[in-house]
Amino acid sequence: MKYDVIVIGGGSAGLMASIAASRQGAKVLLLDKGDKLGRKLGISGGGRCNVTNNKDMDELIQHIPGNGRFLYSALTQFGNKHIIEFFENLGIRLKEEDNGRMFPVSDKAKTVVDALIGQVRKQGVEIRTNSPVKRVLFQDGSVQGVQLHSGEKMDSRAVIIASGGCSVPHTGSTGDGYAWAEAGGHTITQLFPTEVPLTSKEAWIRSRELQGLSLRDVTLSVWNAKGKAVISHRGDMPFESPTCISA
Ligand SMILES: Cc1cc2nc3c(=O)[nH]c(=O)nc-3n(C[C@H](O)[C@H](O)[C@H](O)COP(=O)(O)OP(=O)(O)OC[C@H]3O[C@@H](n4cnc5c(N)ncnc54)[C@H](O)[C@@H]3O)c2cc1C
Repeated sequence: MKYDVIVIGGGSAGLMASIAASRQGAKVLLLDKGDKLGRKLGISGGGRCNVTNNKDMDELIQHIPGNGRFLYSALTQFGNKHIIEFFENLGIRLKEEDNGRMFPVSDKAKTVVDALIGQVRKQGVEIRTNSPVKRVLFQDGSVQGVQLHSGEKMDSRAVIIASGGCSVPHTGSTGDGYAWAEAGGHTITQLFPTEVPLTSKEAWIRSRELQGLSLRDVTLSVWNAKGKAVISHRGDMPFESPTCISA
C-alpha cells in the first residue's frame, strides 16, 4: 500500500488528524476538494478563532447540550488543556477572554490556520488540494482506499473521514462523509446544526446595516408561538455577513 492513512478533508479535524497520524510514523496523504485548506476555520470566531475554553473539564461538559458526559473519555485523552499546550508548542500565543474563552493573541484565525498547515507540511504529510473524493473503497469488510471524482484510485490501510458537516457549504463541507461512514458500517443518527451561524431573510439583516457589529455579553432567546422563551443563551453576537448572524 502506498499510504498508511488517507485523510479526507483539510479542515480543523483533518489537519489535526494528519498531524497525529504522521507523528506516529504513518505515511499520510491529505486530500481536499477545495483549493485551500482550513477555510471554515479561517472564518471561525468572527475571524478570530475561539480555539478552546480554559475552564475545568466538568464545567465544559455541563455546557454541552444533551449527554455531554459521553465525551469524557475523549476529552481526558485530548482536552482543552492539551489544546492550549498544543498551540503554544506551535508558537501561537493565546489569551483568555470572558467566560474562559481562549483566542490567539493576534486576534486572527489565520494565525491558527497557517500554523496547522505549516505543521502538517513540516511532518511530511503529502497534501493534494482540488481533489474531490467520490467514494471510500471497501473490500471484504476492510477499507482499501479512496476514489476521486476524476476516477483515480488511491490505496491505503486506513481512511479518516474528516469532510465536515453540512453547514456553510461554500467552505467545502457538503456532508459527503455521512454516506461513506454508513457504507463502512456506521450508523448515522439524526443530524442537528450546532456551531453554525443563524441565517435570516429579514430585510434588516440582508440590507447589511449591522455587518461588522459585535454585541458583547447579550442574551439571545428563542420564543415559541405562545410568547414563552424556550431557550436562552448568553454570549457575544457578531453580525458577519448580509445573510448570517453567528451566536
Ligand atoms: C461562522 C462560524 C464560526 C465558528 N466559530 C467557531 C469558534 O470560534 N470556535 C470553534 O471551536 N468552532 C467554531 N465554529 C465551528 C468550527 O468552524 C467547525 O466545527 C470546524 O470547522 C469543523 O471542522 P471539520 O474539519 O470537521 O470540517 P470543515 O472545517 O468543514 O472541513 C471539511 C473539509 O473537508 C473538505 N471536503 C468535503 N467534502 C470533500 C470531498 N468529497 N473530498 C475532499 N474533501 C472534501 C472540505 O473542502 C473542507 O476543507 C464556527 C463555525 C462557523 C460556521
